[in-house]
Parts: sequence; structure tokens; C-alpha cells
Amino acid sequence: MNDRAKPKVTAPAHDVIARDKRYVWHPYTQHGTEVEPLVIARAKGASLFDTEGREILDLISSWWTCTHGHSHPKINAALTHQAELMEHVMFAGFTHAPAVDLAEKLAGLLPADLNRVFFSDDGSTSVEVAIKIAYQSWINRGEPRRRLMVAFDGGYHGDTLGAMSVGRGSQMFGAFKDLMCQVRVLPYPATFEGDDAADEREAGALSALQALLADHKQTVAALIVEPLMQGSAGIRFCRPSFLRRLVEMAQDAGVIVIFDEVATGFGRTGTLFALEQAGVVPDIVCLSKGLTGGYMPLAATVVRDRLFDMFLGQSFDRALPHGHSFTANPLACAVALAALGLYEEEQTMARIAEINARHRTMLEVLAAREDVSKPRVLGSVLAFEVQEGGQYQSEASRKLRAWYLAHGFNIRPIGSTVYLMPPYCITDEELSRAYAGMVEGLDRLASGAL
Ligand code: PLP
Repeated sequence: MNDRAKPKVTAPAHDVIARDKRYVWHPYTQHGTEVEPLVIARAKGASLFDTEGREILDLISSWWTCTHGHSHPKINAALTHQAELMEHVMFAGFTHAPAVDLAEKLAGLLPADLNRVFFSDDGSTSVEVAIKIAYQSWINRGEPRRRLMVAFDGGYHGDTLGAMSVGRGSQMFGAFKDLMCQVRVLPYPATFEGDDAADEREAGALSALQALLADHKQTVAALIVEPLMQGSAGIRFCRPSFLRRLVEMAQDAGVIVIFDEVATGFGRTGTLFALEQAGVVPDIVCLSKGLTGGYMPLAATVVRDRLFDMFLGQSFDRALPHGHSFTANPLACAVALAALGLYEEEQTMARIAEINARHRTMLEVLAAREDVSKPRVLGSVLAFEVQEGGQYQSEASRKLRAWYLAHGFNIRPIGSTVYLMPPYCITDEELSRAYAGMVEGLDRLASGAL
């Protein structure tokens, strides 16, 4: 079938929207002000198609999940094949090849003894599991006073209670502050192309950590960080050398280091995992989003062998009391295995390097604009600030988002941050179209035409 052909749909868009308005509560949406959602009928490669067959380039990979492209034939085949065999089985007292194959594959891809995989459902639960493992490991070791979590200003780790607690630096969860666990927030040394104050900012963050570790030697349990890129805070990068120093300092103090690679994993930052660029081995790694190529909810919390060993014993008290109905869902595991296989089959990392080179050609274009600051590129990600600063949904970001969508681009600025994070299958032609559209939207904003 021609991808651009008008699709068959089961219900007209106006009917879906009317029923959506009546029955659905959308994420991160103020239903009092939000415009009508767009009904997407199908998706292929880097594109979404609405019920009229209108194409929208998915330039933020549907909340950073889609890696190899929408509706990939090989992933589709793996999903269908697994559905014929077994859709699901509970994961306590049972196991299955897709989960074991995937755990073994992840252990092989991650460095050192990051070998033990706990499956859950999404990025938030992978973080929740990491926090609980870190916390309980200190209890199991006979040091129950170690319960303080350390996180970063702007850090975002998901929307469940523990994840919100360590994401309190994102300033998004004020309403829930009384429900949160103990967390200390460190300054984050965000950097960009041509930044000449990076050294100073990093030194400030590291000395804040040093002071915290000195003051709370007996009580810090773990430190969590989004390695190399804070996503939801506005695509804020930090340098690998900073990350390395941070991990060394924390691990020297016996603190458990958690890397939240939910957004950075699976090639986003130019290496399969961001940790590779820093050359460090955290104690726990959280993975989701691109794990299944963006197909299905699945997450993995991967821990080092010695941490797992702390949960062994003869009584259930030492075991991790955590699990989900859909832990290690076989469909999701089969899809994840197929998605991981594509990195070799399709030379995905080489394509990411090409996307990176294309993005870099835009740096000069962006730097020359007066209405843009802090242009930056990392792996497949291009980001910059537009002049009007603001919250998650500022006026400028709302206007830009609406204009982009109306013109065939799924670009959703975060406050003043505009960014592209396309699926890796995006073609050169589509990238050129994306850049031209992105710049035209900025021109419209600058001229007051939006
Ligand atoms: N951690 C990071 C770094 C994220 O970017 C996100 C989501 O954007 C999460 C955790 C939460 O993931 P999920 O939305 O799948 O719960």
C-alpha cells in the first residue's frame, strides 16, 4: 500500500473527537484551555497520518519513544509471531525465553557487572524500582539510616511518587510536595555550544555534592542523574567529564549511583547508552522508551551483581517486594529484542552519526539568529532557546507548537526550548523539510505573525 494513500478509518475524526471530549482525560493537558486533539489514524517511518491522510513528521519521536520508525515491518513481524505463541504469563514462578533473551542481551550491552534485570512497565516504574532497590539495599546491609536521595535541579524521572520525589528539581510537582521522600537537589551545570562558563558551573555542582556528602556521610543512599541530557527540563546537556567526576565522587563515598537512561538510552545521545561517553559504570541503570523501539510500555532496571546479591537470603524480608501484573510481558520483550536487533541489521548507530552531522550544519544557522540562544546538538538531538522564556507551556511555545502542527511537524517546545529528536529512520529529505519548517515557524514568531 502507498504510505501516503488515504487510510481506511473506522470512525470519522469529528466523532472520535466528540467522544474523546466526553470520556478521555489526557496526560499533561489542561482540558479547560486545550485545543481539540488531532486524530491519528496510522503511522509509518518518521511520519504520522491523520484521518484525512495528512502527513505530520514526528520530530520528537512521540515523546522520545520511537527509535527505528513507526510500524517497522521487522518489529511488526516479531509482535505477530509472539502473539501467536503466548501473549502473557505472570512472571513470579514462571519465566519465558523472550524475557530471558532480552535480559541476557541487555546485560551484554551494558558494561561490567550490570547484569541483573528487573522488568517493569514504563520509565517511571523503572525509576521507582531503582529507588526501592537502593533504599532497601541499605536496610539489608544493616545501614537503615541511609535513606536520603540526591538529585539534580531540573531533573525529571517520571510521575509516580518516588520518581516525582527525585524529580522535585523539575518544579513540576509542587502540589504533591508533602507526599515526597527525602531528597536533596544539586545544581545542574547545563551547557551548550560556545559556553565559556561550563568549568565554573561544573565546579560549583561538584563542590555542592562534596559538601553534601561530607555533611550527610551516614545518610545518603543514592544519587540519580539523567546522564548527558536532562530531557524534560528543556533538553539540557552536561559534559561527559562532569558525569565522570560526579560518579567517582559519589561511588567513593559509597553512594549508589542511578543513571536514568529512560530518555538517553538506545542511541539518543550518539552512543547506545550515554554512560559509554563518560566511561563510568553506575550501580543501577533505568531503561524504557526506546527499549521497545517505542512500540509498547516496557522498562528495565538493570543492577550490578553485587547489589542483587544483597537481596539474597533465607527469608522473604530481604527480597524485593515489587512486581506488576504485566512484568516482562512476552509481547513487549519480543518487540524489544527485534528493536535491539535492528541496530546491527540497519546500521542504526551510523545513521545517528549522519543525523548528528546534519544537525550540526544547523548550529551556524541558529547561532546567526537574534531570536535564538544556546544552540546545541548531542547525538540525534538538536535544541535551542527562543527568546521568550517560560514554563512548560509558555505563550510562545503554544503558538509555535500550533503552527508547527498545522504545517505538518510534530514539534512541541518545552517552555522556551525548541528541539528536534527524530526517529533514526528519518530520511535526508525529511530532515531538510524539518529544518526548513522549524526555521519558518521561528520567522513567523519573530515577525509577530503567529
Ligand atoms: N525518566 C526520564 C529521563 C524521562 O524522560 C521520563 C519520561 O519522559 C521518565 C523517566 C518517565 O517515563 P514514563 O513517562 O515512561 O513513565
